Amino acid sequence: MNCIFCKIAKGEINARVVYENDKAMAFYDINPQAPIHILIIPKKHYENLFEEIDKEDAMAILDCVKSVVKSLNIQHYRLVSNAGKGAGQEVFHLHLHLLTGREFPAKTV
Ligand code: 5GP
Ligand code: ZN
Repeated sequence: MNCIFCKIAKGEINARVVYENDKAMAFYDINPQAPIHILIIPKKHYENLFEEIDKEDAMAILDCVKSVVKSLNIQHYRLVSNAGKGAGQEVFHLHLHLLTGREFPAKTV
């Protein structure tokens, strides 16, 4: 499968990794939309949250969020997951966008 995030998960493509364990990984987005823009992925391939996610993988990405927040001493953040083309998803490997480093006055939700 030609999936860029699977390649990052396997270390075949470089990324600025913030945190990693056996099931999940966090790395900086290549085209940041905030001063700190980190992507959190399960190492196993899922297209997005429409899929049935193994409990361990679901927990692993949430634990990954916590580890990143703790290690970077983040005080507030926004977490987004685009599911489907209509929502703006471009990479079809499940990921959470963790955005921080600025205020978010324009609320979308
Ligand atoms: P989506 O639009 O699918 O929700 O988000 C995909 C994100 O992946 C985008 O924010 C884009 O900048 C990021 N991205 C795409 N290719 C790469 C890459 O090769 N490396 C990194 N670090 N981020 C990428
Ligand atoms: Zn993948």
